[in-house]
Amino acid sequence: MAEHFLSFEQALAEVLHHAHTLPSPAAQERVSLANAAGLVLAAPITAPRDHPPFNRSTRDGYAVRAEDINQPLRVIGSIRAGESWSGPPLAAGQAIEIMTGARLPAGANSVVMLEHVIVENETIRLSEDRTLRAGDHIVTRGSEAHSGDAILPAGRRVCAAEIAVAASCGAAQLAVYEQPKVAIVPTGDELVEPSLTPQAPLTDAQIYNSNSHAIAALSRNEGGLPFRLHIARDNREDLWERLAQGSMFDLLVLSGGVSKGKHDLVEEMLTHFGAEFFFTGAKIQPGKPIVFGRVPKRGGDLLPNERPWQGPWTYFFGLPGNPISTQVCFHLFVAPFLHALAGETEITPRFVEAHLAEPVRANPDLTRFLPAELSSDIAAATIRLIGWQGSGDLAANARANCYCVLPPRAEDFTAQETVRVLLR
Ligand code: AMP
Ligand code: MG
Repeated sequence: MAEHFLSFEQALAEVLHHAHTLPSPAAQERVSLANAAGLVLAAPITAPRDHPPFNRSTRDGYAVRAEDINQPLRVIGSIRAGESWSGPPLAAGQAIEIMTGARLPAGANSVVMLEHVIVENETIRLSEDRTLRAGDHIVTRGSEAHSGDAILPAGRRVCAAEIAVAASCGAAQLAVYEQPKVAIVPTGDELVEPSLTPQAPLTDAQIYNSNSHAIAALSRNEGGLPFRLHIARDNREDLWERLAQGSMFDLLVLSGGVSKGKHDLVEEMLTHFGAEFFFTGAKIQPGKPIVFGRVPKRGGDLLPNERPWQGPWTYFFGLPGNPISTQVCFHLFVAPFLHALAGETEITPRFVEAHLAEPVRANPDLTRFLPAELSSDIAAATIRLIGWQGSGDLAANARANCYCVLPPRAEDFTAQETVRVLLR
């Protein structure tokens, strides 16, 4: 098969291009607010009334007419949150005590803070060093949203802020998309599944399958429903069997078997399976041999025989088996694609910036994503590479809290230089 090697930017653009062509998820369900976190809104959240529904005090203090504030004002009553003033509108020379969140009485145009007045008998006087303007310390009716406004659009991933806004609109349930189903296929003759039941000790040549578990956790974090399929051994029969199963899912994520070794059969078997490849490598480290494409989606036992196939498709990523390659490639490419499959409209990965703590050697050909530690200092974000033994060093990766992004270039990176950071 012809190689199709892309730069990091080209590979990401290719993934995003295909992500943007996906239709919205067909299936929706209604879930309670408690179960909505991590899901994607299938319908907008609209305001059932103005927000706030009345002119609201944002401070504990006194409702007044700002134009009266330079004279002593007589306090004629008090309003708590949850109450409305039932007396006549506030008149010249008057003030009404008011609590945060309470409705401003008619006639008042501002709230003077408790801390800014001197209280004597039944009157208040503004402290000498303070001023007050009309509109101070109130939020006017409808200034956050008007009745009928879409506060949040469909396609928005639900987190605490979205749940809070839904609850503030009185919604007890939300319409969300069903999550995309992700088939996870580890490949390798050397792999053994960690197991609760006693098993023979590993031989020196065997290792535990960690990638499936990492991919499952990442998929769940990014809005997918993961299914870990059995390990495929490095032979054509096993791979065929697993591709047949995996192509019934919305997304198929394979690990291992995509390099150029004699027993790396994943690309060959995908080709037999009718795969269309969008790229078969990216100039990144780790993760260079990554492949991305799609195969006809199978329903039940039916093998697709229509030519040319018009869809539906199961998109696949073949991630290099080295565990850090697997995880980096997931963050870079699988996560945005999964967001799109889940129905999210904002899918582009976000990078932040930080200053390098120490100089780093450059690589002229590859964009590198190296395990690193981002300091939590609020004044200046500093990033330091974690010492590692290469893309199989799971322990070093677990000590990191991000990846330092180093673009391809000839000159070395200097201490204090600004670099991009891939958060995880
Ligand atoms: P491969 O991409 O198949 O050549 O694998 C590259 C390296 O990653 C090898 O050292 C594999 O043993 C290791 N590896 C492959 N698959 C997994 C997995 N599922 N879990 C942990 N390590 C893996
Ligand atoms: Mg392998």
